[in-house]
Amino acid sequence: MKLEKIDQIFQDTAYIHAGGTEEELQVAKYFQDECAKLGLEAVIEAFPIQMANMQEAVLVVDGKEIKCEGYLNCGSGEVEAELFYLRNVEDAYSLKQCKGKIVLFDGYLRRWSYMDMLANGAVGFITYDGNVHFPDYDIDKREFREMVAEGNEKMLGVHINVRDAIEIVRSGAKTAKIVIKQEEYVGESRNVVLDLPGETDEYIALTAHYDSVPLSHGAYDNMSGSVALLALAESYMNKPHRRGLRFIWTGSEERGLYGSKAYVRDHEDALANIDLCVNIDMIGCVMGGFIGVCTTEEKTVHYLEYFANEVGFQIKASQGVYSSDSTPFADKGVPAISFARISPGGCSAIHCSHDCLDIMSAQQMSDDIDFIDAFLDRMANAKQMPVTKTMPDNMKEELDKYLLRKRPEKK
Ligand SMILES: [Zn+2]
Repeated sequence: MKLEKIDQIFQDTAYIHAGGTEEELQVAKYFQDECAKLGLEAVIEAFPIQMANMQEAVLVVDGKEIKCEGYLNCGSGEVEAELFYLRNVEDAYSLKQCKGKIVLFDGYLRRWSYMDMLANGAVGFITYDGNVHFPDYDIDKREFREMVAEGNEKMLGVHINVRDAIEIVRSGAKTAKIVIKQEEYVGESRNVVLDLPGETDEYIALTAHYDSVPLSHGAYDNMSGSVALLALAESYMNKPHRRGLRFIWTGSEERGLYGSKAYVRDHEDALANIDLCVNIDMIGCVMGGFIGVCTTEEKTVHYLEYFANEVGFQIKASQGVYSSDSTPFADKGVPAISFARISPGGCSAIHCSHDCLDIMSAQQMSDDIDFIDAFLDRMANAKQMPVTKTMPDNMKEELDKYLLRKRPEKK
């Protein structure tokens, strides 16, 4: 793919396109159109997803209103209580002090800490993010995710900017009130699927999510991977490949890997013929090193390193579970490799309004795509797929933890 084309796609999709929204559908259609321009027929596959229209979200701390976003799908109602800053969500003594309080804490709302707060009698929660050193005053639109909610009672929650969180703690605020009114409903998100059949009935699945988070254009995370998929489709449409290639631009990854989860759920039969999943999530940024995370047997790691040396490309390969669309495939027993170029923290930011074109390089995109293309060429044309279709026990255990079936031991 030409560098100008890569830039063009970034520019054409430079708007927020979060999972389940009209804008996400617009980007799905964009990729379908791009395939059509190549003479390829991609199909849009819809799947249901929980949505919400926030009508009112108010946070009052010690009588003063603080700018906030209500947690989507956390319910509606009003709660007023003492405020408590839980500095460590794993500390048993601190958790006991949540009783009857609205709890402010650091980081993401996660299943195990949510259940701990609930068990210790918390009545509401406040999270925050952002960077106090950045000029913006963004407040992310967070949601009460299904994997947190599943089997649990809902609690009202709001999200605020880091500046206000600091001010709340600095002032020693005593009380909080949360009011939320929202309409919750089931909407739709979509995967875009393109098939390039091969000479055998075996397949390699290529995945990249095309949705962004609610504040972000998602150039790096993950228009970059989406562009790569299109470039690979273009590369393989006219060249022979033993194995078929199934390109899946997934929707709603950012909301909890919903697109890839829907794909493996709705195409259980097809998985028998998929030998490998190659996932691309965040490449082509100016700075940083390239990684390959293999949810496979360990020898794939060495193969990747040898192969990268052979073609003169830097890679840090490892065995592990990557937080992206490779994981639902691996969980169904399909060996999966995730590729990414990881930018150092100060050079780029993701999941915020700073993830935009400025941090991307069309030339680096092209180099990264060329490496993935070369690797794919080996896999797609191998006489015998080198990666065995077995999931080792250590990876099964990691998957159990990542997919919240098993709580990790406390350190
Ligand atoms: Zn991503």
